[in-house]
Amino acid sequence: MDKIYDLTKADPKSLQERALKLSEEAGELAQAVLSVTKAPGSAYKNHSLADVREEAVDAAIVSLSLLAHVSDSREDFEAELDRLMTLKCAKWSEKLEPRES
Ligand SMILES: [Mg+2]
Repeated sequence: MDKIYDLTKADPKSLQERALKLSEEAGELAQAVLSVTKAPGSAYKNHSLADVREEAVDAAIVSLSLLAHVSDSREDFEAELDRLMTLKCAKWSEKLEPRES
């Protein structure tokens, strides 16, 4: 995570440019998934699961870079990442709890 913070601070991209980059990477991930799952019209692109993994990590890196961009310090970035990951994963987990019928 140190590397993500340092690279973000060394890269002059604006917040808007990073957000657009995330959309670009999400599109690349979608394209790879459509190809791998042989969705009509997309199978010919011949992507592999390795491509899906690579694009998922590209999207994750850009997303983390967005968080770093709006953080005032490395400590702030790491603390917010930890806090929000815990909070959001707990919310996700709650939704997966078995429901009474
Ligand atoms: Mg990519």
